[in-house]
Amino acid sequence: MSFTNLGLSEPLLKAIKEQGYTTPTPIQKQAIPVIIQNKDILAAAQTGTGKTAGFTLPLLERLAQNKPNMNKYQIRALVLTPTRELAAQVAESIKVYGKYTPFTSTVIFGGVGIHPQLAAIRKGVDIVIATPGRLLDIASQKGIDFSKLECLILDEADRMLDMGFIHDIKKLMKLMPQKRQTLLFSATFSPEIKVLAAGLLKDPALVEVARENTTADQISQVVHFVDKTRKKELLSQLIKTKKWQQVLVFTRTKHGANRLTTQLEESGILAAAIHGNKSQGARTKALADFKEKKIRVLVATDIAARGIDIDQLPHVVNYELPNVPEDYVHRIGRTGRAGKEGEAVSLVCVDEHKLLADIEKFIKAPIKKVEIPAFAPDPSIKAEPIQNGRGKNNQRSTSRQGSNRGGIASQHSKSTRSGSAKKSNYRENKR
Ligand code: AMP
Repeated sequence: MSFTNLGLSEPLLKAIKEQGYTTPTPIQKQAIPVIIQNKDILAAAQTGTGKTAGFTLPLLERLAQNKPNMNKYQIRALVLTPTRELAAQVAESIKVYGKYTPFTSTVIFGGVGIHPQLAAIRKGVDIVIATPGRLLDIASQKGIDFSKLECLILDEADRMLDMGFIHDIKKLMKLMPQKRQTLLFSATFSPEIKVLAAGLLKDPALVEVARENTTADQISQVVHFVDKTRKKELLSQLIKTKKWQQVLVFTRTKHGANRLTTQLEESGILAAAIHGNKSQGARTKALADFKEKKIRVLVATDIAARGIDIDQLPHVVNYELPNVPEDYVHRIGRTGRAGKEGEAVSLVCVDEHKLLADIEKFIKAPIKKVEIPAFAPDPSIKAEPIQNGRGKNNQRSTSRQGSNRGGIASQHSKSTRSGSAKKSNYRENKR
């Protein structure tokens, strides 16, 4: 099947061709015709499946079907995303795929000045791509008018819930017309997502391309057991001996990300950290340097890494395992994209055996263990509670709470923070 059979018109087909895409991905095959028919959809699709084009292309096609009279402040389509990085990436996709269409778009997120964003909407735009907190700020100042909204898209809805955005989303929803198309994309169909979907979608078509809670087949996963104090040495050795050129490394805390970045640089490996305490400028620069291969290693916390789109990222390293098994799936989803093979390596110390067991249970498969003799763990070292960067005796706190503090979520609203904590408690109770 080619893109021409999906109901897309010439300006879009031309842009697709320029991108070098010849065949639609499974999510695109399923979602594009349904969205063009103005139906709601509930789509379970992870990053890397081509989902962004899966909703952007038919959205642009739909907008081209009529030409309503619009006042300034009024917008026709809204994409909500959990993070600034994802908002920027979706905006970029809309620019790329909409290159030969007349539609204008702008991106709205916190952590940068609000006035240029207000000015952009005042000038008149068709499509807004936004994180919920800042958009709600703007809406409460009457800086945007949703009365003519035709299409609402929630991208990575599961992560928006995890980050406590549900209250902001509900407030925004009250400002939108009942008669509209709504598309909900989520990596997983958790019970919470099903509840959200039931409240938002009308008779949605279900689109599912990856089985629930399983990891993509093309990602090879391996665990190396190693003592905590020797992880940095093992990581440097793996990068050097295996000649990895572009590695995304996950740590549990912002402090840990900074420390590891310094240690890697000391061992002669160019690295940068990306997390919620970094300014937007620093994050954008780190990502750009990484994409251009000016730096070899990007060290990230879970929230900061969410939505990072880097073509053909070959290696992901879990320097520390995530506290929440879903995050493992999200993390390794950064590799093995769009059919390319990827490798996910986890460095696991004795403190993390329980986390590893939880992850294997969640993905319903054991992960291959490979011993590196020079780094065999010292059997006399006993497991200790995991520190999440907020003092001792806090192993009950999750990585999300740790990395949210002062980070992305807390820059949005109070409800964001309380929402996040509530969610974490829910997770704790579940375990
Ligand atoms: P996404 O899941 O939207 O983050 O997309 C993952 C990557 O796949 C992006 O880098 C896209 O440029 C790429 N991509 C999207 N659709 C196609 C396609 N039909 N053929 C090849 N690559 C694609």
